[in-house]
Amino acid sequence: MTAITNHLPTAELQALDAAHHMHPFTTGDELAAKGARVITRAKGVYLTDSDGNEILDAMAGLWCVNLGYGRPEMGAVAARQMNELPYYNTFFQTTHVPGIALAAELAELAPGTLNHVFFAGSGSEANDTNLRMVRTYWAEKGQPEKSHVISRKNAYHGSSMGSGSLGGMTAIHSQGGLPIPGIHHIGQPDWWAEGGDMTPEAFGLARAQELEAKIEELGAENVAAFIGEPVQGAGGVIIPPASYWPEIQRICRKHDVLLIADEVICGFGRTGNWFGSETMGIEPDIMTIAKGLSSGYAPIGGSIVSDEIAAVINATEFNHGYTYSGHPVCAAVALENLRIMREENMLDHIRNVAQPALTEALTALGTHPLVGGVNQSGMMASLPLTPHKESRASFAGNAGDVGYMCREHCFANNLVMRHVGDRMIISPPLVITPEEIDIFATRAKIALDATYKDLKAKDMLKAAS
Ligand SMILES: *Cc1c(COP(=O)(O)O)cnc(C)c1O
Repeated sequence: MTAITNHLPTAELQALDAAHHMHPFTTGDELAAKGARVITRAKGVYLTDSDGNEILDAMAGLWCVNLGYGRPEMGAVAARQMNELPYYNTFFQTTHVPGIALAAELAELAPGTLNHVFFAGSGSEANDTNLRMVRTYWAEKGQPEKSHVISRKNAYHGSSMGSGSLGGMTAIHSQGGLPIPGIHHIGQPDWWAEGGDMTPEAFGLARAQELEAKIEELGAENVAAFIGEPVQGAGGVIIPPASYWPEIQRICRKHDVLLIADEVICGFGRTGNWFGSETMGIEPDIMTIAKGLSSGYAPIGGSIVSDEIAAVINATEFNHGYTYSGHPVCAAVALENLRIMREENMLDHIRNVAQPALTEALTALGTHPLVGGVNQSGMMASLPLTPHKESRASFAGNAGDVGYMCREHCFANNLVMRHVGDRMIISPPLVITPEEIDIFATRAKIALDATYKDLKAKDMLKAAS
């Protein structure tokens, strides 16, 4: 067996990757032809690739490395836990200290009566748990027909059969027979793209009222739950108008429909509070967590559920769980992540330092001729690109071509800024400093200028009619 190390030439690593490694959400053949960028190490907000480039990661990996990379405390805790108890399960009347401590900590952090945690290995798994749990909850209460779940188009809740069905992405639904039965999708609160001439407030209300219409169509006695991200992440950092969530909450209460807040991105500081539900002023019955729970240092997710739901589920045998539910090493790493966040007053850093600096940088980028506006909630933001600011027009060519172009310019300038369609997406590590935000802004401006120049040269600065 060859030893494969950082010291192999980049081309060799890329060839082995192309030969044997299948990538998520990627056209493998295209990537193989181009060669994947090999990331070899990371520290703070910077990644280093196999050619020695230092890349500013304005996406915190996949929205998860909230603490930044390379925190030695995290590695130390993982090593200690591996030596003490690398694994034990929680299925058969056993438990372990990291699982106990993390569940207790999450119960304390989570708002309201959300005092009980069912662990999973990821956000997708946790949402699969939620789907089975809400259906089981109503069945145990003698209403097995109350089983339908309503979500939104363009939502992202994971890519397993259950969570991919809960999500509302057409690209995911187009493969593998999704969505599974009993899941329905209403319109998303994306005023920028879909609000037309309505005010954001009126549009937010109208989109929330689609929930009531759908519940009435299905019959409230058949609807178990509604699921939504407080701020849609993968869909394009879509921040709903202020009118949206209070109306959703009102409708769920009125029709006795459980509210599941998917906090996988919004949780653990991203929006400036511990949870996005607090930022949006909602009181969910279940919260899905993952990503920032461990800052991505170890794979762990879960569902934090209310006293009421736990009382019903705990009264029966819930035939559900994962080998790695509450994995002791992952739980220990998550606990250390939360300890550091508290000790370093991460919420204060976000509110008083990072968020204002990001607002300033984005406001300046917002004056760029290609940037139609600035959407920001705490430390997640999007910059929709447009050929015409006033009308919020989309480009005449294929949706996403311009965003892709801009992302490639970012990458070439050692900046990770993602695109969703023609929207540029930012979700940096929460520890980012104002100086690092300046570097982000400088590189982003270079990429926007280069994109603008390309569009002019290729005569692509045209609005779709
Ligand atoms: C990433 C994500 C998930 C899925 O989490 P995985 O750990 O990738 O399975 C679910 N919900 C939201 C909102 C996400 O952003």
